[in-house]
Amino acid sequence: MTTNLQTPIDYLKGVGPNRADLLRKELGIHTYQDLINLFPNRYIDRTRYYKISQLQQSNADIQVIGKLVEFKEVAQKQGKRLVGTFQDETGVMELVWFRGHKWIRDSIKLNKPYVIFGKANWFNGRFSMPHPEMELLEEHEKNLRSAMQPVYPSTEKLSNKGISNRVVIQMMQQLFIETGGRFAETLSEPLRSELKLISKGDALFNVHFPKSQELLARAQFRLKLEELFYIQLQLIIKNLIHKSKIKGFPFEHVGDYFTTFFNNHLPFELTNAQKRVIKEIRADLGSNAQMNRLLQGDVGSGKTIVAFMSMLMALDNGFQACLMAPTEILSVQHYNGLLEHCKLLNIRIKILTGSSTTSERKKIHKALENGELQILIGTHALLEDKVKFKNLGLAIIDEQHRFGVAQRSKLWHKNSSPPHVLVMTATPIPRTLAMSVYGDLDISVIDELPAGRKPIKTVHRYDKNRLNVFKFIRDEIKKGRQIYIVYPLIQESEALDYKDLMDGYESISRDFPMPEYQISIVHGKMKPADKDFEMQRFIKGETQIMVATTVIEVGVNVPNASVMIIESAERFGLSQLHQLRGRVGRGAEQSYCILMTGHKLSNDSKTRLETMVKTSDGFEIAEVDLRLRGPGDIMGTQQSGVLNLKIADIIKDKDILQSARFYAKKLLKDDPKLSNPENKVVLDTYKALSKFKNIWNYIS
Ligand code: ADP
Ligand code: MG
Repeated sequence: MTTNLQTPIDYLKGVGPNRADLLRKELGIHTYQDLINLFPNRYIDRTRYYKISQLQQSNADIQVIGKLVEFKEVAQKQGKRLVGTFQDETGVMELVWFRGHKWIRDSIKLNKPYVIFGKANWFNGRFSMPHPEMELLEEHEKNLRSAMQPVYPSTEKLSNKGISNRVVIQMMQQLFIETGGRFAETLSEPLRSELKLISKGDALFNVHFPKSQELLARAQFRLKLEELFYIQLQLIIKNLIHKSKIKGFPFEHVGDYFTTFFNNHLPFELTNAQKRVIKEIRADLGSNAQMNRLLQGDVGSGKTIVAFMSMLMALDNGFQACLMAPTEILSVQHYNGLLEHCKLLNIRIKILTGSSTTSERKKIHKALENGELQILIGTHALLEDKVKFKNLGLAIIDEQHRFGVAQRSKLWHKNSSPPHVLVMTATPIPRTLAMSVYGDLDISVIDELPAGRKPIKTVHRYDKNRLNVFKFIRDEIKKGRQIYIVYPLIQESEALDYKDLMDGYESISRDFPMPEYQISIVHGKMKPADKDFEMQRFIKGETQIMVATTVIEVGVNVPNASVMIIESAERFGLSQLHQLRGRVGRGAEQSYCILMTGHKLSNDSKTRLETMVKTSDGFEIAEVDLRLRGPGDIMGTQQSGVLNLKIADIIKDKDILQSARFYAKKLLKDDPKLSNPENKVVLDTYKALSKFKNIWNYIS
């Protein structure tokens, strides 16, 4: 017989009403089940005991056996601290408490052997341990011990009220005693054997009381997988409902455009990642459900060609396609790049932006409606009501983080039935991971850069090093390279930013005088035509330096530009810095990114700069960003329980997440209604977990 895990925590021996109250308020633990799902943050080695004479200054938690011989109270600046003299046969140390004096004095016995546990600091000529965990030696010996002792999440209130980590461990032991360690299995037999998962009971035991490092790893794996599996199951079911409701246009044939381009005009060999992603997109487009896919690939990974080849699939099936980019510059660049390919294939392509003239617009509107125009590139202008397609089959959105969800859905409604949608982003931000957790989009990843790219060298320099930096710029220009110098642009202080930019431009003009040096400047206050003119001068190599605000952040491609200087780098967010850096390193030359800052830096700024210097891996950067900003900030609005995972971490356990998603998908493919008896356990667990019972009804 298994104990009912819904039993209120008050009933656990040793808990009682006061502790139960604290557990509920501080950790949200209401039931036995909640307690068993309180997973350790980390583990420590408690097989080793130190003598006082062996202590060393270190950051590790250690344990010592000895006796407390006296207490004294010592006045300090604010209030008093309680100091205990603790000794063993090799020496004397101090134990220190800044809070909870009465409770300590009442509960700790003098001259009895104790095991103390904590961090030892060297202070005033002897070692001292603040707020040690203490346990009578005889109790200590009675308890289950394992080499890896769990450390549970706690709060200040809990430890002040005497619910120390040791107490939590005791509760956990008690829970295992009362339940006999029998926990019902929650994953199906086939899944467990396929993934070589240990049983639920073994996993729970070993996550709390690991018998070995290996069993701990297996326990964590199983529990993380299970947690993510059920979330994925829920999301995929939602996704399936979406697909069963919303039909897409099936692009059945592989036609001439695609094949001709692939065989005769590809400017380079595709990377394996690009090939894989194109296949994924093809599979989606070939099915009769509407594609809703996110294409994620670091800056420079070559998303544009994938976008173009996807558009060819639409065209081959008689449909139109559009590509929407967040800025005019970027739209123009896409247009120019794709125009070359389109000429070779006799494809009719146009660009529509805020600066298109009325007569151009009229022509475009007409050609779109009668189906003459096959591909339309542009900015937000594409979303205007007047823009009507004859048969839009595929809508691609580049650099998705600049567009809101609302705009995405607006594109959807350009047709009688929604086109396939491909969203491309260069920011492997947690948001995208979270999306995969939400499963509202399918995800493709280009996780490989084209061959032959040299990693960008990144350094941090202070303003006072400016002369050296300028010398470096001169040397690079001598070698024929081009330079970006970027200034922050932050909405609230636009005027100030503009002044910074202009001051910077002036000083750069002085140090890099005409006619030897030519400088372009691009910022948000310029007319689009002027912006474009300046941009073109830089692209053509007529100017060596581009002074700009973050307008160039997204997507601009000038392979000969090899130095990116970011002014006031401390004012940029991590993903923005990463994006900016991605503007260089696109050619064969060694590229550099120089982060300029003043001397005063906040801790967060320091971390951001250090991260940029240390790595160019977008995922790693995204992870730091998540740590600095927290999921709430990154997600916009904090969404349901998905981010409050109990054991898995959507960033660190990305591989497990993918595996969980894979198996959840496979399961629903093989047994859509989970009616197979061997999947009953999954069905039952799902139902118990699911808050969305109505969704379930819809499916079954
Ligand atoms: P992003 O993913 O940042 O949008 P782009 O599509 O702009 O990247 O590609 C960056 C550069 O790499 C472009 O100059 C493009 O022509 C080039 N490129 C893309 N794919 C490959 C490839 N497989 N081999 C070589 N160069 C490539
Ligand atoms: Mg791009």
